[in-house]
Parts: sequence; C-alpha cells; structure tokens
Amino acid sequence: MSEPEYDLVVIGAGPGGYVAGIRAAQLGLKTACIDKRAELGGVCLNVGCIPSKVLLDSSERYEEARTKIAEHGIRVTGVGLDLSVMMARKEKVVSDLTKGIEFLLKKNKIDRIVGTAVISAPGEVVVSLNDGTVTNLTTRNLLIATGSEPTPLAGVEIDEKRIVSSTGALSLESVPEKLIVIGAGAIGLELGSVWSRLGSNVTVVEYLDHILPGMDREICRQALRIFKRQGIEFQLSQKVTSATVGEGVCLSVESVAGGEAEELAADVVLLAIGRRPYTEGLGLEDVGVTVDERGFIEVDRRFETRVPGIYAIGDCIPGPMLAHKAEDEGSICAEILAGQSGHIDYDRVPGVVYTWPEIASVGKTEEALKEQGVSYKVGKFPFSANSRARATGDTDGLVKILADAETDRVLGVHILGPLAGDLISEAVIALEFGVSAEDIARTSHAHPSMGEAMREAALAVSGRALHI
Ligand SMILES: Cc1cc2nc3c(=O)[nH]c(=O)nc-3n(C[C@H](O)[C@H](O)[C@H](O)COP(=O)(O)OP(=O)(O)OC[C@H]3O[C@@H](n4cnc5c(N)ncnc54)[C@H](O)[C@@H]3O)c2cc1C
Repeated sequence: MSEPEYDLVVIGAGPGGYVAGIRAAQLGLKTACIDKRAELGGVCLNVGCIPSKVLLDSSERYEEARTKIAEHGIRVTGVGLDLSVMMARKEKVVSDLTKGIEFLLKKNKIDRIVGTAVISAPGEVVVSLNDGTVTNLTTRNLLIATGSEPTPLAGVEIDEKRIVSSTGALSLESVPEKLIVIGAGAIGLELGSVWSRLGSNVTVVEYLDHILPGMDREICRQALRIFKRQGIEFQLSQKVTSATVGEGVCLSVESVAGGEAEELAADVVLLAIGRRPYTEGLGLEDVGVTVDERGFIEVDRRFETRVPGIYAIGDCIPGPMLAHKAEDEGSICAEILAGQSGHIDYDRVPGVVYTWPEIASVGKTEEALKEQGVSYKVGKFPFSANSRARATGDTDGLVKILADAETDRVLGVHILGPLAGDLISEAVIALEFGVSAEDIARTSHAHPSMGEAMREAALAVSGRALHI
C-alpha cells in the first residue's frame, strides 16, 4: 500500500480546525485543511464572535454619542445612524481577518482545500470541491472540526428575513421597530443589545426563570436589572409554542407554569436558544465514529474517536461551545499527534458575554459549590468604588471571588463590569496556578485601573477591602 499523502487532514477551518492545522505544521506534520466555506475562520470569524463584537462596538459608540458624551462637556449635534456604513465596516473587519488566516495557512505550508468533505474510510476523505470536481485525499490522521449550527425550535421556522438566526441578525438591512429575541443566553443578549442600542424595541423571551444559564446567579440578577434599565424587556419562564409570519411575526407564548397563551407581535424574531453540533453528511456512521444523545462526537481525553486515527475537537464535541476552547483543543490535539502530551481542564475555560457591562466568569459558581458541598468564602467589590470606573463613568457591576474556606485557594471568579472580558484573564491564571485570594490581594495592581477591583475583591475574601 502506498504511503498516505498527508500526516493530518483537518475538516473545518474554524478556530479549532485552522489552529490545529497551524500547530501540526509547526511540529512538522504535512497538513491539509478543508472547508466548504470560501472564507477561512469558520463560524467565529464569519458569522459569530467577530461580526457580533464589531456591531457591539459600533452600537456602543452610537449609544454613547447619543446619550452619554454630553456629560463629558462634548457637544455633538446631529447624531445619526448609517446602518449600511456600519455593516460595511463589519464586513471589512471580517474580510481582513479571514485573509489573515489565509496568510497564516500559506506561511505554514498547509494545503487549503475549498469543498465539502466526506469520510469514506479511516484515513480517506472524498472532497466535492466548490469548483464542481471531486478529489480524494489519504492521510495518517483525520481531525473533525466541523463546529455547530443554531438549534431549531419546532413551530418557529427560520427564514433569515422575519425569523432570523444569529447569522441573519448580524446583517439586518434596517433597524426593526420591534425585535423579539427567543433565548436569554450570550448570543441573544449580545445581539439584543446591538439592536436595542440602534433603536429597536427589544423583548427577550426565556424559558428559564433567569438569564444566562450556567453563570453565577447573583451576577445574572444584577445584570438583568441593568439590561432592564437599558430598556430591554424580559419575559422569563415563558415558552414560545409557534410563530406565524405575515407582514411581521406573531408569536404564541405560554407561561411554563401553564395558563392562557399570549400573542406577541414583532417585526423580526431572533431565534437564539443555543447551538448544536454539526456533523451532517460527514459519513460518521459508515466509518464507526459515534455521537452521544445530543449529537456530539464521542472522544477520549486525547480527542480520539472510537475509530483509531480519527480525532474531533471544538463545537462538535462536548464542552463549552467557545472559540478559545476550540483553539486550545486544536493545539493540544496537534501536539498529541506529534508525540507530545497535553490536556484541557474545562473548569478553567473562561466564558464572556460582551454586553455592556460585560459579564465574565471562570471556575465554580456559588450554586455549584453549594451543590458539591464545598465550604467557601466570598469577596466582592463594586465598580462604583473603583476610581478608574468612576473616571470613565462605568460604575455598574462588581467583582466576586469565591475561595476555599480552608485553603483560601481561588475556586471561581465572576465579574460584571467594564472590560470584564479582559479582567478575567488574571482570574484564569489564578485558577491555572492554584493561587489563593491572599496571593491576588498581595499582588501589585496599577492605579487607577479596573483591575484594582479584582485586588479589592481578593482583600474582601478576608474582610479587609480598603476602599469600601
Ligand atoms: C453570534 C455568535 C457569537 C459568538 N461569539 C463568541 C464569542 O464572543 N466568543 C467565543 O468564544 N465564542 C463565540 N461564539 C462561538 C464560536 O463561534 C464557536 O465556539 C467556534 O466558532 C467553534 O469553532 P469550531 O472550530 O469548533 O467550529 P466552527 O467555527 O463552527 O467551524 C466549522 C467549520 O467547518 C466547516 N465544515 C462543516 N462541515 C464540513 C464538511 N463536511 N466539509 C468541509 N467543511 C465543513 C464549516 O463550513 C465551518 O467553517 C459565537 C457564536 C455565534 C454564532
């Protein structure tokens, strides 16, 4: 039998797949990366993390110009919205970044293949190229990084015009007068915030009795109050049972506890109830790769599936559906294939919601510690007592640190506040290296900085915060 053409073929060029490809190439493996999308970067760069953050930033500036800048003594008149310019800027940022990935693949001599892959046998892939031809690849190892897609809801059919997924919500042609968001998770709240700031009347309908499932409840309660103050309405403990599309959309909504159905009218509905693994048409069953009851590919700690030589990473395997988790798995998997070792601790993967204020979290929540019977201490510090937050006027929120009652080791950090998504990196390092709250409290933090709120929360764990 002839030698396989490649050491590694990666299916999917999202943050999981392209990072795995780069790391494998760095380690000397001959690598190819297939994606059916002409642009690299997967969901994250094309219709996920990046375009949503561009619109969050643009809409924040619009809101600031309209409502906040005057208090700084800056007179701005005639503030207006040019949505097509805002969208064009978003497209430009995305296109520059996807071209950057193209450069990186070239630099690392990775063969890039544009087409749809089917696994015909272990080590064999058939690719229907986007130019209409078909090519067969042989490889020692195969990595599936095909990501995820929006979870559908029975009775609420996505048409990407009136009823949109996150992809449609990133490219609306005009600001809807009334927008209903189904689902109060990160994506629903981020995109709900964007359109609310741009002028939509936004209502978020959520099945659970709280927003942001899985995050620390105290933080979620405070965030909910802030979002309501920003003008977003919430209907919690409500389930959407059907949608009728006409001029607008009419949703039928019922209380989870039972009772009469209510009709809600909107110009546009965003369905954002979560995402599910995407492995359609890959031929997994034919080669013996198994999936769990929710469709995630089953892998061991080395990311290997039931079939030797076939690996999987990213959104299509269990764990938080986040770009940096996919990237970490991609690097680790490539290193394992090159004979090195590595592992990932999902408890130390931070989660960030890029609303304003931002919400960021790593490690255990208070609810999880209670459930596990761990005794813990809590230290909290509000941004209203942080001098930098006072200077910028971003005083909503707090830092909350949970530490082991006996050892003082940091077990979880939850932040609601300005730049929470950046501040959380300090907490991730703290968890990675097993530091104590006392270690953070004794570490110098620049003044004035938002980071001082972290230090003060660490001091508060032992009841000695200084500025409150
Ligand atoms: C609106 C939105 C906002 C988000 N914001 C954030 C955020 O701020 N931070 C964060 O960490 N995460 C965010 N995410 C989640 C993040 O985008 C995903 O976790 C990440 O993209 C997963 O990476 P992946 O490599 O596993 O797969 P993906 O990025 O989904 O990439 C998979 C790729 O595989 C390709 N593919 C699939 N099947 C085949 C096939 N048979 N042949 C060839 N190619 C195939 C697809 O075309 C796709 O390009 C967001 C998601 C959305 C939708």
